[in-house]
Amino acid sequence: MQRLLQQFIGNRWQPSHGERQLVVINPYTEERIAEITAGHPADVEAAVQSARHALADWSQKNGAERASYLEKIADGLSRRREELSRLSSINNGKILEEARLDLDDAIACYRYYAGQARDLDRRQGQPVTLDMPGMQAHSYQDPVGVVGLITPWNFPLVTSAWKLAPALAAGCTVIFKPSEVTPLPEQVLADIITEAELPAGVFNLLFGDGEGIGAPMSSHKGIDKISFTGSNRVGETIMAAAAPGSRRVSLELGGKSPVLVLADADVNEAAEYVMAGIYFNAGQICSATSRLLVHESLADALYQALGQRIDALRLGNPLADDIDMGPLTCARQRDTVLGYLTQADREGLSAVRDGRQRALPKQGYFLAPSLYRDVPVTSRLWQEEIFGPVLCGHSFATEEQAVALANDSDFGLAATVISGDPGRARRVGKQLQAGTIWYNSPQLVLPETSWGGFKRSGIGRELGPWGLSAYLEVKHMVGPIV
Ligand code: NAD
Repeated sequence: MQRLLQQFIGNRWQPSHGERQLVVINPYTEERIAEITAGHPADVEAAVQSARHALADWSQKNGAERASYLEKIADGLSRRREELSRLSSINNGKILEEARLDLDDAIACYRYYAGQARDLDRRQGQPVTLDMPGMQAHSYQDPVGVVGLITPWNFPLVTSAWKLAPALAAGCTVIFKPSEVTPLPEQVLADIITEAELPAGVFNLLFGDGEGIGAPMSSHKGIDKISFTGSNRVGETIMAAAAPGSRRVSLELGGKSPVLVLADADVNEAAEYVMAGIYFNAGQICSATSRLLVHESLADALYQALGQRIDALRLGNPLADDIDMGPLTCARQRDTVLGYLTQADREGLSAVRDGRQRALPKQGYFLAPSLYRDVPVTSRLWQEEIFGPVLCGHSFATEEQAVALANDSDFGLAATVISGDPGRARRVGKQLQAGTIWYNSPQLVLPETSWGGFKRSGIGRELGPWGLSAYLEVKHMVGPIV
């Protein structure tokens, strides 16, 4: 049982001012594994002072210097890959193999932004071509300043890497609040950053919940920007809190992404992509392709193939080798998903598989996969993000219908298109309103490509050069040629 009652501010662990405490639970054993402070606005105040103090020096370092720190962070994560994968699996409930993929993703992200930091040096002072004789202009990019980073619980160390790596590369100093549900893997970042010898105050880590830390961070005038990943409900609160002072926000929010299976798709290949798109991480993925659009000629065969694959999924101890799906990360999320299954009963939806009917391990927040077919587009299960292992299907007759149904959503984070003809899949995919579209591909997330959504799925983009721009202000020097 760990006690996380201290905050990492100015490269030192200091007692939190907060008296409220929260418990951290292993979702497989249901045992308490840690106590964590809920935090206090005075912790935020101390972290802001530390980050502001460090900003002057850090922002003046060139990109190549900052890159060397990012590489050391990547090295630190690499050295502890196995230990951190296990910790993530224990705290989050994801299977070990998936936790290892997360670590690889985070390491690749820090390395990628080391490269971007170096590239930033090259781009500083670029001349701009003007249509005005005698005048010249040059462009620069300055760090935004002190940034507050707030993350959820579904991909520990990954959602934080996507923010921390570009923020540090850009020359910002940071205050990072991980989810109170999964603080254990993120806690190790403080050790890794100490080992990397980052100057004091550049990275500050605050444990706590929305009330103790998140809300005071969002409204603090000493924080120039908040970058948030999480629910739409909290994202909109943060946006409102950041409005006074016109402070900046980037939001990575929810999704209700479609997977389109076109008439010429191979059913077995499609079934593999559909399964991975919704049941990976027990469905707790913002880009989960939770709306299946299948051509009517393939529907029966595809539902049968999916049903067989669902039955073959092995649920159990996420640390064991022979397991495909662990428990959901917390009891609250399991109950939220169960609420949607009750709603499906009320709406009379047709279940190909009902997760509640399957025998489950005796302990743990398990919920077996569910699959509904012919779900009306007016259903709450079709429209709302469930964030669990629940897939809803709907058939279409023409490609035009499929595209219209896919785009008929408040969200626009991701989409997948599967066809026997990759050219056709790509053509159909280009008509979709989403930040990432995979065609005949698993859900690859690459540091070089962007992440983020259209419509209610968020504001701004992470990853790639766009992820770095989120932490930079553009500046132009304009004057006579000297
Ligand atoms: P959440 O919004 O409940 O919490 C996210 C973070 O916000 C946590 O750290 C929490 O402590 C903090 N928070 C809570 N109240 C706050 C407040 N008033 N002010 C500031 N911070 C506050 O989300 P969650 O349940 O942790 O995660 C699930 C959600 O995250 C889903 O909607 C999912 O789609 C979304 N998500 C999106 C992406 C993406 O890249 N778009 C990635 C992962 C998760």
